[in-house]
Amino acid sequence: MKREKSEALFEKAKQYFPGGVNSPVRAFRSVGGTPLFIQKGKGSHIWDADGNEFIDYCGSWGPLILGHANDKVVDAIKRTVENGSSFGAPTALENELAELILGNNRYIQKIRFVSSGTEAVMSAIRLARGYTARNKILKFEGCYHGHSDSLLVKAGSGLVTFGNTSSAGVPESFVNETIVVSLNNEDAVKQAFAEFKDQIACVIIEPIPANNGLLLQRKEYLQFLRDICTENKTLLIFDEVINGFRIGFEGAAGYYNIQPDIITYGKIIGGGLPVGMYGASAEIMSCISPEGNVYQAGTLSGNPVAMAAGIAQLTECLRPGFYESLESKTQFLIQQIFKHTEQLNFTPANLKLFSVGSIFWIAFTDKEVVRSAEEIDADSMKYFRVLHKELLERGIYLGPSGYEVGFVCEAHTEDDLLKTAKAFAEALAVAMKA
Ligand SMILES: *Cc1c(COP(=O)(O)O)cnc(C)c1O
Repeated sequence: MKREKSEALFEKAKQYFPGGVNSPVRAFRSVGGTPLFIQKGKGSHIWDADGNEFIDYCGSWGPLILGHANDKVVDAIKRTVENGSSFGAPTALENELAELILGNNRYIQKIRFVSSGTEAVMSAIRLARGYTARNKILKFEGCYHGHSDSLLVKAGSGLVTFGNTSSAGVPESFVNETIVVSLNNEDAVKQAFAEFKDQIACVIIEPIPANNGLLLQRKEYLQFLRDICTENKTLLIFDEVINGFRIGFEGAAGYYNIQPDIITYGKIIGGGLPVGMYGASAEIMSCISPEGNVYQAGTLSGNPVAMAAGIAQLTECLRPGFYESLESKTQFLIQQIFKHTEQLNFTPANLKLFSVGSIFWIAFTDKEVVRSAEEIDADSMKYFRVLHKELLERGIYLGPSGYEVGFVCEAHTEDDLLKTAKAFAEALAVAMKA
């Protein structure tokens, strides 16, 4: 497989951007090699600058639930942009997308559109602090909430710790407001609430943690978080930027039937354009400016082109059977992978394919379930590195890190899934020798 054009583009990009990229994981550092520069995408396929074709399971890290350049989404974008791309004044399209969302989601009453997931979460945290008049927040090791200062914090050693910054440039004083505990550990959360009584504004969790492996939580654990937050007048934030509209129109709140206080969204709601959103009850949202005194604004927030793309995409998601079909495709892919490894006369005991809805994660572990970041064996990533490279050679594109999940989209065909399973088994045979 020729990579010359991608390699030349990457050399050039390194002169312009730190590490040659505009978001770190794209640089392929965790799998080695150089990133593919993508020329175009259509449906479930992408083509790189050298003309190589791939079946894509990255889907721009989740937003493209209908696949690339979906006709309805592209048409909506074209039709809208002809009339201008942004006004900094309200448009009817914002109402239309809001009606579509609020009319089909029982867990939020009012929303605010922003331009990214990071911005949604950052604003939700400010809202929680403004509403409760408390400063501390509690997050979990292994959950990603974007790159705002308060959240670039990783766990230290004890059961309950203030985090250590996971990035230079984050002041110690910010870190001292963020408590970090392990997932799936009730005692740690209880201890944090005991130690910081009446100080914790919010607990924030990815209810389906999917940014550091797929760390599926027990419903009882999420319910425990709901209850302890209620008892302590602390707000529970579900960060559904990745799983919202992905595992069902009502996301994880609907899947587990748990009512959080604030929910953040992003990725899928923009149809591939930059959109984020946070929502809550009308009462909590009334704290947001200009109604209330929590300030939050955005020049391009709710811009008509992104709204139109979101409307087109979410309208498709609402079709009956949409999510069931995605889930059965995902299960089919997983079954076929194991069928092919059996045909090749091996099924590595430590190969696990964890999944929920149309999200899947390839893990190399002996454990039957993995619920916390600490349970992931960093050394097992050596298998993923080889697997990733071998899959690329066979025309299958996964996000370039073993900690990232894969996404099945509406455009994946049975033929795609069968080809993928065959390639996967072959690539795995090579990877297991790593
Ligand atoms: C992707 C993601 C974010 C950040 O969203 P951006 O649009 O990349 O800023 C935040 N939280 C979760 C759960 C995410 O998956």
